[in-house]
Amino acid sequence: MNNLQQKIFTRLSRYVAVDTTSDPNSTSVPTTDSQISFAHQLAAEMRKIGLVEVEVDEYGFVTGIIPANTDHPAPTIGFFAHMDTVSDYNGHGIRAVLHENYDGGTIVINQEKNMVLTPESAPSLKQCVGNNIVTSDGNTLLGADDKLGVSILMTLAEYISQHPEVKHGTLKFAFTIDEETGTGISYFDVNRFKADFAYTVDGATLGDVDCGNFNADSVTIRITGKSCHPGSAKGFMANPVRIAADIISAWPEDKLPETTDGEDGFILFKDITGGLEKAEVQGIVREHNLEKFEQFKKTLTALVEEKRKKYPAAKIEVEYKEQYRNMRDILREKPQAMQLLEGALKENNISYKLTQARGGTDGSQLSLRGLPTPNLFAGYENPHGPYEWCSLDWAEKAFEVLKSIAQNAVK
Ligand SMILES: [Zn+2]
Repeated sequence: MNNLQQKIFTRLSRYVAVDTTSDPNSTSVPTTDSQISFAHQLAAEMRKIGLVEVEVDEYGFVTGIIPANTDHPAPTIGFFAHMDTVSDYNGHGIRAVLHENYDGGTIVINQEKNMVLTPESAPSLKQCVGNNIVTSDGNTLLGADDKLGVSILMTLAEYISQHPEVKHGTLKFAFTIDEETGTGISYFDVNRFKADFAYTVDGATLGDVDCGNFNADSVTIRITGKSCHPGSAKGFMANPVRIAADIISAWPEDKLPETTDGEDGFILFKDITGGLEKAEVQGIVREHNLEKFEQFKKTLTALVEEKRKKYPAAKIEVEYKEQYRNMRDILREKPQAMQLLEGALKENNISYKLTQARGGTDGSQLSLRGLPTPNLFAGYENPHGPYEWCSLDWAEKAFEVLKSIAQNAVK
């Protein structure tokens, strides 16, 4: 294993051993205290590496700067990775296990539990013959999402600090909280951070670049019924339970999460509560294309209107709330982030794929708040479970791409 991969692996092992599971049921910021202590650990390491103005803010965000080392003009570039790991699977006591020089066959994650990775169960492994692969010991997730991103960025910061011959503009590093709960990034102060554009290093497979995401609203349908004794309800009763079911089943079956993929959007009805007096349906609307997104909502609103006519005794209201918007348009308006990224991928001979994420990313929220931020692969697969694995060779490529970006941004 080369020196660079060794460094990334050593960091990854050290970072995943620290439990930073976030908690979707917590209302504190960050959702778990463990993220704060990890933040201080990273801050100490950043100072040691030579970053300046290193700080952990009141929410647990860690930021630090490598000042420009050239007089040539260059944009200020931000680099982001998130510190928390998902709560879907055990994240306590993670042990990073190295499988050196992968031979193309079966990787045993845990003999006792009969847990293995094969090219059949994990097709991307076919591209990884000869790579250094990392898994957990099968009792936990690995947490490469996104401790691998953190490891790549720390190793990049260290490399750049130690190599003054690498000319670059101002580079700003940020390690963030509660990405997995979707709640952290809204507390990040974009204006204070002051960068021209940025990258999150939180993608999956080699060559994956997320430069778009869903438009997203939540939807609530409130139904107030008319209740009476069922024995004398004829022509009088309006039953919210049945009306809710009627509305949900009237939504087109080909516009649901379980029937769509790629760039096609959906409405997910995810919760119904209520009884004979009133009922409430909760859902989410997701679609990449803004026009289609608006059309989705019009269709649902029209459907509700239809049911109002069908059940005149009931009161039915529908309300949409904005959650996030597709960053694709912002990245097009301010193209420098994508231009540098695509240039760096080509320079490093990486065949890449521009994808539209079927979800939101921290970068999509940062983009909407004025900091254009596409998402670059870190090099992990199967996140959020015990079969999570990563390739140190892919991580090294991500490192090279980011280093090229820093250098090529100097005019
Ligand atoms: Zn992640």
